[in-house]
Amino acid sequence: MAFTLPALPYGFDALEPHIDTTTMQIHHGKHHQAYVDNLNKAIAGTPHEGKSLEELVRHAGQISTPVRNNGGGHWNHSFFWESLAPGAGGTPTGKLLEDINAAFGSFEGMKEKFNAAGMGRFGSGWAWLIVKDGKLEISSTPNQDNPLMDVAEVKGTPLLGADVWEHAYYLKYQNRRADYLAAFWNLVNWSKVASRY
Ligand code: MN
Repeated sequence: MAFTLPALPYGFDALEPHIDTTTMQIHHGKHHQAYVDNLNKAIAGTPHEGKSLEELVRHAGQISTPVRNNGGGHWNHSFFWESLAPGAGGTPTGKLLEDINAAFGSFEGMKEKFNAAGMGRFGSGWAWLIVKDGKLEISSTPNQDNPLMDVAEVKGTPLLGADVWEHAYYLKYQNRRADYLAAFWNLVNWSKVASRY
């Protein structure tokens, strides 16, 4: 079974004004679709055809660069769309909030560290809130790598990720990645993040 592009869980215009409609249309319909198509091409006729996306991603470094890039791209974007929701944002609650406060001093402290990870990623990549050895941590990955991968510098289970590729924000924010990251927090679906925790 070939991989397919998942439908967005909301409309292309639903994340306005924080993420604009055209960016969402191109990001989902062109960029994410291309990762899906190129992943399918990379595994067609190989022993990896039929494996789950997570299994491919976890062993990406042992498989091939196209699987690492496009399998990562498909996993990361599927995860990203579900991490966002219209009218979301605010703060987490319950155990997730308690553990964020314990790990980072405060919710604001976590956001600062996450934003710094996104700003510090030179070129294209992702910022992450992860669970590593039972503890919350912030990390970042280059390109379409993610913390599940065997090749990740910091391995863990992702709870939240921010796409900091220019394609995620350039039409509205141009070079202002910090403004895009500030707007990102207005869209974080904390109930989804908590369910992953
Ligand atoms: Mn992207």
